[in-house]
Amino acid sequence: MAFELPPLPYAYEALEAAIDKKTMELHHDKHHGAYVNNLNAALEKYPEWQNKTLEEICREIAKVPQDVRTAVRNNGGGHYNHSMFWQIMSSKGGGQPDGKVGDAINSLGGFDKFKEQFNQAGVKQFGSGWVWLVRTNAGKFEIRSTPNQDNPLMDGKGDFAVFGNDVWEHAYYLRYQNRRPDYLAAWWNVVNWEAINKRLEVAAGERVAAD
Ligand code: MN
Repeated sequence: MAFELPPLPYAYEALEAAIDKKTMELHHDKHHGAYVNNLNAALEKYPEWQNKTLEEICREIAKVPQDVRTAVRNNGGGHYNHSMFWQIMSSKGGGQPDGKVGDAINSLGGFDKFKEQFNQAGVKQFGSGWVWLVRTNAGKFEIRSTPNQDNPLMDGKGDFAVFGNDVWEHAYYLRYQNRRPDYLAAWWNVVNWEAINKRLEVAAGERVAAD
């Protein structure tokens, strides 16, 4: 078993300010769990790919053997995206972004404008997908949405996923039903800016991943 489902770093009910306990149970245990199981099954006959990191698999998706490439894209992407997602939320989240991510958001016109544009990109993503703050290989920050379980690493250009929100119906339907904009608006109550700044420091080589 190359890949494992990471435990949630808090209780299922910790994010009630935006996401209900039942959604968290299903989303983490069943949805994320299935992505991990399906990724392991897809890589079963390719041990050289089992030994790569999840980030490497996403960045090198175009080189994955053709017969399992779609399965690895969907399930490896699903594993990467959800592992990031649990990490960048907290019961103590919310408030104004600070540090490096605060600087990035200010460079895009400030937090109010940023939230409006990020939420709009999430609303406009047709069907299932994610909305992201991306740092491009050139060091520029931008808002981007991706379909399905794709992520900004998969373009193979060295872009980094600073953070993202899941706009699949499974992420919000029990509490918000069809009201995706309400979910997107409430989600800022649980965003963990400290964890996002740590992701940026790891990506910049200023901090090791386990720190
Ligand atoms: Mn999801």
